[in-house]
Amino acid sequence: MELLSIKKLDLTGKKVFIRCDFNVPMDEFGNISDDRRIRSALSTINYCLDQECAVILASHFGRPRGKVDEKYSLIPVARRIQHLLKRDVKMAKDVIGKDALAKASSLKPSEVLLLENLRFEEDETKNDKEFSKKLASLAEFYINDAFGVSHRAHSSVEGITHFFDNNHKAAGFLLQKEITFFSKLINNPVRPFAAIIGGSKVSGKLEALMNLLPKVDKIFIGGGMAFTFLKKMGYNIGASLVEDDLLEEAGHIMDKAKKLGVKFYLPVDVIAADKFSEDAVSKIVTTQEIPNAWMGLDIGPATVRLYREGLADVQTVLWNGPMGVYEMEKFARGSSKIANFVADSYATTIVGGGDTADLVQRVGVDDEMSFISTGGGASLELLEGKILPGVEPLIIQEED
Ligand code: AMP
Repeated sequence: MELLSIKKLDLTGKKVFIRCDFNVPMDEFGNISDDRRIRSALSTINYCLDQECAVILASHFGRPRGKVDEKYSLIPVARRIQHLLKRDVKMAKDVIGKDALAKASSLKPSEVLLLENLRFEEDETKNDKEFSKKLASLAEFYINDAFGVSHRAHSSVEGITHFFDNNHKAAGFLLQKEITFFSKLINNPVRPFAAIIGGSKVSGKLEALMNLLPKVDKIFIGGGMAFTFLKKMGYNIGASLVEDDLLEEAGHIMDKAKKLGVKFYLPVDVIAADKFSEDAVSKIVTTQEIPNAWMGLDIGPATVRLYREGLADVQTVLWNGPMGVYEMEKFARGSSKIANFVADSYATTIVGGGDTADLVQRVGVDDEMSFISTGGGASLELLEGKILPGVEPLIIQEED
Protein backbone atom coordinates (compact mmCIF):
# COMPACT_ATOMS: atom_id res chain seq x y z
CA MET A 1 0.00 0.00 0.00
CA GLU A 2 1.61 3.21 -1.15
CA LEU A 3 0.46 6.57 0.17
CA LEU A 4 0.50 9.96 -1.53
CA SER A 5 3.77 11.43 -0.36
CA ILE A 6 4.28 14.92 0.97
CA LYS A 7 7.61 14.95 -0.88
CA LYS A 8 5.86 14.77 -4.24
CA LEU A 9 3.83 17.93 -3.61
CA ASP A 10 4.88 21.28 -5.02
CA LEU A 11 4.59 23.11 -1.73
CA THR A 12 6.97 26.03 -2.11
CA GLY A 13 5.47 29.15 -0.56
CA LYS A 14 1.98 27.61 -0.46
CA LYS A 15 -0.67 27.53 2.26
CA VAL A 16 -0.89 24.08 3.85
CA PHE A 17 -3.44 22.62 6.24
CA ILE A 18 -1.87 19.95 8.45
CA ARG A 19 -4.19 17.73 10.51
CA CYS A 20 -2.17 16.74 13.57
CA ASP A 21 -2.95 14.74 16.67
CA PHE A 22 -2.20 17.05 19.57
CA ASN A 23 -4.48 15.15 21.94
CA VAL A 24 -1.83 15.10 24.66
CA PRO A 25 -2.18 14.15 28.33
CA MET A 26 -2.32 17.04 30.80
CA ASP A 27 -1.80 17.01 34.56
CA GLU A 28 -4.21 18.50 37.09
CA PHE A 29 -2.55 21.92 36.71
CA GLY A 30 -3.15 22.04 32.95
CA ASN A 31 0.48 21.29 32.06
CA ILE A 32 1.24 18.95 29.17
CA SER A 33 2.66 15.86 30.86
CA ASP A 34 3.78 14.04 27.71
CA ASP A 35 4.42 15.93 24.47
CA ARG A 36 5.42 12.89 22.38
CA ARG A 37 2.54 13.48 19.98
CA ILE A 38 3.56 17.10 19.41
CA ARG A 39 7.22 16.19 18.94
CA SER A 40 6.20 13.45 16.51
CA ALA A 41 4.52 16.03 14.26
CA LEU A 42 7.58 18.27 14.01
CA SER A 43 9.15 16.55 10.97
CA THR A 44 6.16 17.35 8.79
CA ILE A 45 5.77 20.88 10.16
CA ASN A 46 9.46 21.66 9.72
CA TYR A 47 9.47 20.20 6.23
CA CYS A 48 6.65 22.56 5.25
CA LEU A 49 8.38 25.52 6.91
CA ASP A 50 11.57 24.67 5.01
CA GLN A 51 9.48 25.03 1.84
CA GLU A 52 8.40 28.45 3.13
CA CYS A 53 4.79 27.35 3.46
CA ALA A 54 2.18 29.20 5.47
CA VAL A 55 1.29 26.42 7.89
CA ILE A 56 -2.19 25.97 9.37
CA LEU A 57 -2.28 23.34 12.11
CA ALA A 58 -5.47 21.69 13.34
CA SER A 59 -6.18 19.10 16.00
CA HIS A 60 -8.79 17.87 18.43
CA PHE A 61 -8.15 17.74 22.15
CA GLY A 62 -10.24 15.76 24.65
CA ARG A 63 -13.98 15.40 24.26
CA PRO A 64 -15.64 18.82 24.46
CA ARG A 65 -18.62 17.31 22.55
CA GLY A 66 -19.22 20.11 20.07
CA LYS A 67 -19.15 22.95 22.60
CA VAL A 68 -16.56 25.59 23.39
CA ASP A 69 -14.99 24.63 26.71
CA GLU A 70 -11.90 26.50 27.91
CA LYS A 71 -10.69 23.35 29.63
CA TYR A 72 -10.08 21.87 26.19
CA SER A 73 -8.50 24.91 24.57
CA LEU A 74 -5.39 24.27 22.49
CA ILE A 75 -3.63 27.35 23.90
CA PRO A 76 -1.16 25.26 26.00
CA VAL A 77 -0.42 23.21 22.89
CA ALA A 78 0.30 26.38 20.88
CA ARG A 79 2.80 27.41 23.57
CA ARG A 80 4.52 24.05 23.44
CA ILE A 81 4.73 24.06 19.63
CA GLN A 82 6.15 27.58 19.77
CA HIS A 83 8.77 26.39 22.23
CA LEU A 84 9.66 23.31 20.17
CA LEU A 85 9.72 25.11 16.81
CA LYS A 86 11.50 28.12 18.31
CA ARG A 87 9.26 30.42 16.32
CA ASP A 88 6.08 32.37 16.82
CA VAL A 89 2.81 30.41 16.60
CA LYS A 90 -0.42 32.35 16.11
CA MET A 91 -3.49 30.99 17.83
CA ALA A 92 -6.97 31.32 16.34
CA LYS A 93 -9.80 31.96 18.81
CA ASP A 94 -12.10 29.59 16.91
CA VAL A 95 -12.04 26.78 14.37
CA ILE A 96 -13.78 28.21 11.37
CA GLY A 97 -15.19 31.46 12.76
CA LYS A 98 -14.27 35.07 11.99
CA ASP A 99 -10.96 34.98 13.82
CA ALA A 100 -9.71 31.75 12.20
CA LEU A 101 -10.77 32.91 8.73
CA ALA A 102 -9.07 36.28 9.12
CA LYS A 103 -5.87 34.83 10.54
CA ALA A 104 -5.73 32.03 7.97
CA SER A 105 -6.24 34.35 5.03
CA SER A 106 -3.60 36.83 6.18
CA LEU A 107 -1.09 34.10 7.09
CA LYS A 108 2.21 34.70 5.32
CA PRO A 109 4.80 32.18 4.08
CA SER A 110 6.86 30.68 6.94
CA GLU A 111 4.22 31.64 9.50
CA VAL A 112 2.35 29.12 11.67
CA LEU A 113 -1.27 29.28 12.80
CA LEU A 114 -3.00 26.82 15.13
CA LEU A 115 -6.79 26.60 14.94
CA GLU A 116 -8.80 26.07 18.13
CA ASN A 117 -9.90 22.57 19.10
CA LEU A 118 -11.69 21.04 16.10
CA ARG A 119 -14.17 19.35 18.42
CA PHE A 120 -15.50 22.70 19.62
CA GLU A 121 -17.55 22.30 16.42
CA GLU A 122 -20.07 19.45 16.57
CA ASP A 123 -19.88 19.04 12.79
CA GLU A 124 -16.31 17.76 13.04
CA THR A 125 -17.22 14.32 14.40
CA LYS A 126 -20.29 14.17 12.12
CA ASN A 127 -18.03 14.40 9.09
CA ASP A 128 -20.32 17.18 7.89
CA LYS A 129 -19.74 18.05 4.25
CA GLU A 130 -20.19 21.82 4.59
CA PHE A 131 -17.84 21.93 7.55
CA SER A 132 -15.26 19.83 5.70
CA LYS A 133 -15.53 22.24 2.76
CA LYS A 134 -14.99 25.26 5.01
CA LEU A 135 -11.90 23.67 6.54
CA ALA A 136 -10.60 22.83 3.07
CA SER A 137 -11.14 26.42 1.91
CA LEU A 138 -8.47 27.62 4.37
CA ALA A 139 -5.53 26.18 2.42
CA GLU A 140 -4.25 25.02 -0.95
CA PHE A 141 -2.85 21.71 0.29
CA TYR A 142 -3.98 19.12 2.82
CA ILE A 143 -1.66 16.90 4.84
CA ASN A 144 -2.85 14.23 7.25
CA ASP A 145 -0.29 13.55 9.97
CA ALA A 146 -2.80 12.51 12.64
CA PHE A 147 -2.34 8.76 12.79
CA GLY A 148 -4.01 8.58 16.22
CA VAL A 149 -7.33 9.71 14.77
CA SER A 150 -7.15 8.26 11.26
CA HIS A 151 -9.53 5.45 12.22
CA ARG A 152 -12.25 8.08 12.60
CA ALA A 153 -14.25 9.34 9.63
CA HIS A 154 -14.30 12.92 10.84
CA SER A 155 -14.36 16.13 8.78
CA SER A 156 -10.72 17.10 9.26
CA VAL A 157 -9.57 13.53 8.62
CA GLU A 158 -11.86 12.12 5.94
CA GLY A 159 -14.42 14.67 4.67
CA ILE A 160 -11.80 17.29 3.90
CA THR A 161 -9.82 14.98 1.59
CA HIS A 162 -12.60 15.11 -1.01
CA PHE A 163 -11.86 18.78 -1.66
CA PHE A 164 -8.27 18.21 -2.76
CA ASP A 165 -7.04 16.26 -5.79
CA ASN A 166 -4.09 13.89 -5.59
CA ASN A 167 -1.62 16.66 -6.38
CA HIS A 168 -2.84 18.65 -3.40
CA LYS A 169 -3.04 16.14 -0.55
CA ALA A 170 -0.72 13.64 1.08
CA ALA A 171 0.23 11.71 4.19
CA GLY A 172 2.65 13.44 6.53
CA PHE A 173 5.86 11.77 7.68
CA LEU A 174 4.38 10.47 10.94
CA LEU A 175 1.33 8.91 9.29
CA GLN A 176 3.56 7.38 6.65
CA LYS A 177 5.93 5.98 9.27
CA GLU A 178 3.14 4.41 11.37
CA ILE A 179 1.43 2.81 8.35
CA THR A 180 4.72 1.45 6.98
CA PHE A 181 5.69 0.05 10.37
CA PHE A 182 2.40 -1.72 11.01
CA SER A 183 2.11 -3.08 7.44
CA LYS A 184 5.56 -4.59 7.79
CA LEU A 185 4.66 -5.98 11.18
CA ILE A 186 1.51 -7.63 9.93
CA ASN A 187 2.83 -8.89 6.61
CA ASN A 188 6.41 -9.73 7.31
CA PRO A 189 7.33 -10.07 10.99
CA VAL A 190 10.62 -11.63 12.06
CA ARG A 191 9.67 -14.82 13.93
CA PRO A 192 8.92 -15.94 16.55
CA PHE A 193 6.37 -13.13 16.76
CA ALA A 194 4.58 -12.61 20.09
CA ALA A 195 1.68 -10.34 21.01
CA ILE A 196 1.22 -9.23 24.59
CA ILE A 197 -2.36 -8.14 24.95
CA GLY A 198 -3.73 -6.63 28.13
CA GLY A 199 -5.99 -3.82 29.26
CA SER A 200 -9.44 -3.82 30.67
CA LYS A 201 -11.73 -5.53 28.23
CA VAL A 202 -11.81 -8.32 25.70
CA SER A 203 -14.51 -6.42 23.80
CA GLY A 204 -12.18 -3.60 22.73
CA LYS A 205 -9.60 -6.01 21.40
CA LEU A 206 -11.67 -8.93 20.23
CA GLU A 207 -11.32 -8.33 16.50
CA ALA A 208 -7.65 -7.50 16.86
CA LEU A 209 -7.09 -10.75 18.75
CA MET A 210 -8.92 -12.76 16.08
CA ASN A 211 -6.97 -11.07 13.33
CA LEU A 212 -3.65 -11.50 15.07
CA LEU A 213 -4.08 -15.22 15.70
CA PRO A 214 -3.10 -16.40 12.21
CA LYS A 215 -0.10 -14.06 12.25
CA VAL A 216 1.55 -14.56 15.62
CA ASP A 217 3.35 -17.53 17.18
CA LYS A 218 2.49 -16.72 20.79
CA ILE A 219 -0.06 -14.61 22.66
CA PHE A 220 0.34 -13.50 26.27
CA ILE A 221 -2.84 -12.27 27.92
CA GLY A 222 -2.84 -9.92 30.91
CA GLY A 223 -4.97 -7.22 32.49
CA GLY A 224 -8.67 -7.39 33.19
CA MET A 225 -9.38 -9.19 29.95
CA ALA A 226 -7.61 -12.33 31.22
CA PHE A 227 -10.50 -13.11 33.56
CA THR A 228 -13.04 -13.64 30.80
CA PHE A 229 -10.73 -16.33 29.41
CA LEU A 230 -10.07 -17.79 32.86
CA LYS A 231 -13.78 -17.91 33.66
CA LYS A 232 -14.43 -19.67 30.36
CA MET A 233 -11.87 -22.26 31.43
CA GLY A 234 -13.86 -22.87 34.58
CA TYR A 235 -11.86 -20.93 37.16
CA ASN A 236 -13.55 -19.06 39.99
CA ILE A 237 -12.46 -15.49 39.30
CA GLY A 238 -14.16 -13.89 42.31
CA ALA A 239 -15.17 -10.29 41.66
CA SER A 240 -12.59 -9.73 38.91
CA LEU A 241 -13.55 -7.82 35.78
CA VAL A 242 -15.42 -10.11 33.41
CA GLU A 243 -17.51 -9.84 30.27
CA ASP A 244 -20.01 -12.65 30.60
CA ASP A 245 -21.48 -11.97 27.17
CA LEU A 246 -18.10 -12.70 25.63
CA LEU A 247 -17.40 -16.03 27.29
CA GLU A 248 -18.29 -17.90 24.14
CA GLU A 249 -16.08 -15.62 22.01
CA ALA A 250 -13.25 -16.18 24.46
CA GLY A 251 -13.71 -19.91 23.96
CA HIS A 252 -13.56 -19.47 20.17
CA ILE A 253 -10.34 -17.50 20.45
CA MET A 254 -8.71 -20.23 22.56
CA ASP A 255 -9.96 -22.97 20.19
CA LYS A 256 -8.69 -21.08 17.18
CA ALA A 257 -5.31 -20.59 18.85
CA LYS A 258 -5.12 -24.33 19.48
CA LYS A 259 -6.03 -25.16 15.87
CA LEU A 260 -3.45 -22.74 14.52
CA GLY A 261 -0.75 -23.94 16.89
CA VAL A 262 -0.46 -20.52 18.51
CA LYS A 263 0.87 -20.72 22.06
CA PHE A 264 -1.78 -19.03 24.18
CA TYR A 265 -0.60 -17.91 27.62
CA LEU A 266 -2.89 -16.93 30.49
CA PRO A 267 -1.89 -15.76 34.00
CA VAL A 268 -1.18 -18.55 36.48
CA ASP A 269 -1.33 -16.22 39.48
CA VAL A 270 -2.62 -12.74 40.23
CA ILE A 271 -2.45 -9.96 42.78
CA ALA A 272 -5.92 -10.18 44.28
CA ALA A 273 -7.42 -7.25 46.19
CA ASP A 274 -10.50 -6.89 48.36
CA LYS A 275 -11.49 -3.68 46.55
CA PHE A 276 -10.54 -1.57 43.53
CA SER A 277 -8.39 0.88 45.42
CA GLU A 278 -4.79 1.79 46.20
CA ASP A 279 -5.43 1.08 49.89
CA ALA A 280 -7.02 -2.31 49.28
CA VAL A 281 -5.81 -5.38 51.15
CA SER A 282 -4.00 -7.46 48.56
CA LYS A 283 -2.25 -10.81 48.27
CA ILE A 284 -0.68 -13.08 45.72
CA VAL A 285 -2.87 -16.04 44.82
CA THR A 286 -2.84 -18.65 42.07
CA THR A 287 -5.65 -18.30 39.55
CA GLN A 288 -7.15 -21.43 41.11
CA GLU A 289 -7.50 -19.68 44.46
CA ILE A 290 -8.95 -16.22 43.94
CA PRO A 291 -11.17 -15.65 47.00
CA ASN A 292 -14.84 -14.91 46.40
CA ALA A 293 -15.51 -11.15 46.30
CA TRP A 294 -11.81 -10.43 45.66
CA MET A 295 -10.59 -9.17 42.31
CA GLY A 296 -7.41 -9.78 40.35
CA LEU A 297 -5.79 -6.43 39.62
CA ASP A 298 -2.36 -7.45 38.35
CA ILE A 299 -0.51 -10.53 37.15
CA GLY A 300 1.46 -12.27 39.88
CA PRO A 301 5.18 -13.12 40.16
CA ALA A 302 4.81 -16.67 38.81
CA THR A 303 3.09 -15.30 35.71
CA VAL A 304 5.89 -12.76 35.27
CA ARG A 305 8.41 -15.63 35.37
CA LEU A 306 6.31 -17.73 33.00
CA TYR A 307 5.89 -14.88 30.51
CA ARG A 308 9.60 -14.10 30.64
CA GLU A 309 10.35 -17.74 29.79
CA GLY A 310 7.87 -17.68 26.94
CA LEU A 311 9.16 -14.37 25.62
CA ALA A 312 12.84 -15.29 25.85
CA ASP A 313 13.20 -16.53 22.26
CA VAL A 314 10.89 -14.14 20.43
CA GLN A 315 12.22 -11.79 17.75
CA THR A 316 9.23 -9.48 17.46
CA VAL A 317 6.98 -8.29 20.26
CA LEU A 318 3.81 -6.32 19.86
CA TRP A 319 2.44 -4.98 23.12
CA ASN A 320 -0.98 -3.45 23.54
CA GLY A 321 -2.57 -3.05 26.96
CA PRO A 322 -1.18 -3.10 30.52
CA MET A 323 -0.92 -6.28 32.60
CA GLY A 324 -2.73 -4.74 35.56
CA VAL A 325 -4.11 -1.52 37.00
CA TYR A 326 -0.74 0.15 36.49
CA GLU A 327 -2.08 3.58 37.50
CA MET A 328 -2.04 2.32 41.12
CA GLU A 329 1.46 1.59 42.35
CA LYS A 330 0.32 -1.50 44.17
CA PHE A 331 -0.84 -3.12 40.94
CA ALA A 332 1.83 -1.79 38.58
CA ARG A 333 4.52 -4.34 39.31
CA GLY A 334 3.52 -6.95 36.71
CA SER A 335 3.38 -4.35 33.93
CA SER A 336 6.64 -2.80 35.00
CA LYS A 337 8.47 -6.18 35.18
CA ILE A 338 7.24 -7.12 31.72
CA ALA A 339 8.14 -3.64 30.42
CA ASN A 340 11.69 -3.98 31.71
CA PHE A 341 12.05 -7.47 30.28
CA VAL A 342 10.73 -6.48 26.85
CA ALA A 343 12.92 -3.37 26.85
CA ASP A 344 16.03 -5.41 27.63
CA SER A 345 15.38 -7.99 24.92
CA TYR A 346 17.00 -7.87 21.50
CA ALA A 347 13.63 -8.31 19.82
CA THR A 348 11.93 -5.63 17.77
CA THR A 349 9.47 -4.17 20.24
CA ILE A 350 6.37 -2.30 19.19
CA VAL A 351 4.17 -0.57 21.71
CA GLY A 352 0.68 0.40 20.64
CA GLY A 353 -2.00 2.08 22.70
CA GLY A 354 -2.03 5.22 24.78
CA ASP A 355 -2.02 3.34 28.08
CA THR A 356 0.88 1.11 27.15
CA ALA A 357 2.87 4.07 25.83
CA ASP A 358 2.15 5.91 29.08
CA LEU A 359 3.17 2.83 31.05
CA VAL A 360 6.55 2.34 29.37
CA GLN A 361 7.25 6.02 29.86
CA ARG A 362 6.43 5.82 33.57
CA VAL A 363 8.71 2.81 33.89
CA GLY A 364 11.37 4.83 32.05
CA VAL A 365 12.01 2.34 29.25
CA ASP A 366 10.31 4.21 26.39
CA ASP A 367 13.66 4.89 24.72
CA GLU A 368 14.48 1.18 24.69
CA MET A 369 11.44 0.24 22.60
CA SER A 370 11.87 -0.01 18.83
CA PHE A 371 8.65 1.82 18.05
CA ILE A 372 5.95 3.49 20.09
CA SER A 373 2.83 4.15 18.11
CA THR A 374 1.02 7.46 18.64
CA GLY A 375 -2.33 5.76 18.07
CA GLY A 376 -3.91 3.10 20.25
CA GLY A 377 -7.29 2.65 18.55
CA ALA A 378 -5.85 3.31 15.10
CA SER A 379 -3.09 0.73 15.49
CA LEU A 380 -5.61 -1.86 16.71
CA GLU A 381 -7.80 -1.27 13.66
CA LEU A 382 -4.76 -1.71 11.43
CA LEU A 383 -4.05 -4.98 13.21
CA GLU A 384 -7.65 -5.99 12.58
CA GLY A 385 -6.79 -5.70 8.91
CA LYS A 386 -8.92 -2.61 8.31
CA ILE A 387 -8.07 0.26 6.01
CA LEU A 388 -8.45 3.42 8.06
CA PRO A 389 -10.96 6.00 6.74
CA GLY A 390 -8.39 8.79 7.02
CA VAL A 391 -5.79 6.78 5.15
CA GLU A 392 -7.92 5.38 2.34
CA PRO A 393 -8.22 8.67 0.40
CA LEU A 394 -4.42 8.97 0.49
CA ILE A 395 -3.68 5.57 -1.02
CA ILE A 396 -2.22 5.69 -4.52
CA GLN A 397 -4.61 3.65 -6.66
CA GLU A 398 -3.25 1.46 -9.49
CA GLU A 399 -4.47 3.72 -12.30
CA ASP A 400 -2.76 6.81 -10.79
P1 AMP B 1 -7.61 -0.58 27.72
O1 AMP B 1 -8.06 0.83 27.53
O2 AMP B 1 -8.63 -1.61 27.39
O3 AMP B 1 -6.25 -0.86 27.11
O4 AMP B 1 -7.41 -0.76 29.29
C1 AMP B 1 -6.47 -0.07 30.04
C2 AMP B 1 -6.94 -0.05 31.44
O5 AMP B 1 -7.10 -1.37 31.90
C3 AMP B 1 -6.00 0.61 32.40
O6 AMP B 1 -6.56 1.81 32.82
C4 AMP B 1 -5.88 -0.40 33.56
O7 AMP B 1 -6.03 0.21 34.81
C5 AMP B 1 -7.03 -1.34 33.29
N1 AMP B 1 -6.79 -2.68 33.84
C6 AMP B 1 -5.70 -3.45 33.65
N2 AMP B 1 -5.81 -4.59 34.36
C7 AMP B 1 -6.98 -4.56 35.01
C8 AMP B 1 -7.64 -5.45 35.90
N3 AMP B 1 -7.09 -6.62 36.24
N4 AMP B 1 -8.85 -5.10 36.38
C9 AMP B 1 -9.39 -3.91 36.03
N5 AMP B 1 -8.82 -3.01 35.18
C10 AMP B 1 -7.63 -3.34 34.68
